[in-house]
Amino acid sequence: MDFSLSDEQREFKALCRKFAAEVIRPAAPRHDADESTPWEVMKEARIRGLHGIEHIQRLGADPDGQLSCIYAEELHWGCAGIALALSGSTLAAAGLASSGTPEQIARWVPECFGADDEVQLGAYAVTEPQAGSDVKSLRTTAKLDGDEWVLNGTKVFITNGGIADVHVVVATVDPELGHRGQASFVIGEGTPGLRQGKKESKLGIRASHTAEVVLEDCRIPAENLLGGMEKLERKLERARSGKSSGRNSGALATFELTRPVVGASALGIAQAAYEWTLSYLDDGGSIDPIEAALDESSSAGRPPLERQGVQQVLAQVATEIEAARLLVQRASWMGRSGKPMTGGQGSMSKLKGGDVAMWATRTLMDLVGPAAWSREYPLEKWFRDAKIYQLFEGTAEIQRLVISRMQAEEYRRRLTEAAEIAADAVAATASNGDRAEAKGTLARAAETSASGKNGAEAGERQKTA
Ligand SMILES: Cc1cc2nc3c(=O)[nH]c(=O)nc-3n(C[C@H](O)[C@H](O)[C@H](O)COP(=O)(O)OP(=O)(O)OC[C@H]3O[C@@H](n4cnc5c(N)ncnc54)[C@H](O)[C@@H]3O)c2cc1C
Repeated sequence: MDFSLSDEQREFKALCRKFAAEVIRPAAPRHDADESTPWEVMKEARIRGLHGIEHIQRLGADPDGQLSCIYAEELHWGCAGIALALSGSTLAAAGLASSGTPEQIARWVPECFGADDEVQLGAYAVTEPQAGSDVKSLRTTAKLDGDEWVLNGTKVFITNGGIADVHVVVATVDPELGHRGQASFVIGEGTPGLRQGKKESKLGIRASHTAEVVLEDCRIPAENLLGGMEKLERKLERARSGKSSGRNSGALATFELTRPVVGASALGIAQAAYEWTLSYLDDGGSIDPIEAALDESSSAGRPPLERQGVQQVLAQVATEIEAARLLVQRASWMGRSGKPMTGGQGSMSKLKGGDVAMWATRTLMDLVGPAAWSREYPLEKWFRDAKIYQLFEGTAEIQRLVISRMQAEEYRRRLTEAAEIAADAVAATASNGDRAEAKGTLARAAETSASGKNGAEAGERQKTA
């Protein structure tokens, strides 16, 4: 097992860090203050090969699945809001890729990014006032009228909502069927009936545009239904006849693939806060006077980084970040190499990344003390930016539910597998009286049910069985 980055991955990391330090960080305070879209940063990213369709293809081609995480972590180290402005279109592209036909993907995905030096944006609109985690309750409707679909409803909290060139919208065609009555539609720029509603004013990631998308008799050609009419009719038919679609586990598996990048994004914030605190304290920056009074160890009175109270905290933060990064790297590698994440490894990496970012920024603020509250220093911004990683792309509570359900399913699968092996053993004894063979098989069954081996291995066994 080799945990080191390849030469290409190391070079790419350095390229991203350089861009984040030279371009993103200097622009961050202004866009954070104004809540403005960082178009000039996006253009510069395009020039440096860090934005656009070729860039996305490069990330996807990495055999270890690490480039996407490196990109997310390094750019979020620069500024989470700007990083999200740069990568928000990938949500729309992922929506197109998971539901569209090859022709639809080829036509619309490039439009989410734009060609040459023209930067375009995509938006993926699912959430509604009453339906975020509870996605089956969507009320936005899509009705077929001749050779057009007519969409009506309001989407809320949509990244790039209203300013995107391509909106991918999930709507219901049959509300009775819950999520199985829903379909995805693509809406091109300038389509009448689509407009931006309220723009959100946010606590953090303020350089990323978030707004309502209002659809009022928005008419789009019938071919803008992703996946096509035949596929939708088959899906509705199955749902109405009560047959299982298998979609739920498919959707869960897809989310498992995308979540490590979200975990990596959160870690970029934690890493930035950690590095800054180290250098602040190394420069002799004051530490919380209460903390100083409580530190009664022999190191009291020494420079901050040599004091045991400070060392305890910094060591804990560094360890948590490393542990979360390993989860992210493993899940990303599993996703890229086709190892099934049946134990919820993707969700674990997102959950841990978000929790560590929030905990680390708060803990480091406690360590630094009142100076951390000042806008003169960047710690308060990282603290504000971190919180969103427990709220969007599946809240922390929802991640825990997903992990728990996948773990339970995995456990039951192991039990079933063990029972099957035991049944084979009994059958073998009955047919040829070979007790030794039966004993060996039963031992394997016991090992299978009790091993606690991780989901990937169990998934592999299942695949090869
Ligand atoms: C900055 C930002 C950008 C966003 N970008 C997009 C975007 O581009 N596209 C898009 O479609 N959406 C986007 N969203 C929406 C986001 O994905 C949702 O807000 C999120 O999924 C939560 O859904 P909700 O708002 O309905 O909250 P709710 O689901 O109502 O959650 C409220 C609280 O209840 C908890 N909860 C809910 N269900 C359960 C349960 N079963 N068990 C335990 N606890 C539960 C949640 O964890 C949360 O704490 C964005 C949101 C923000 C803030």
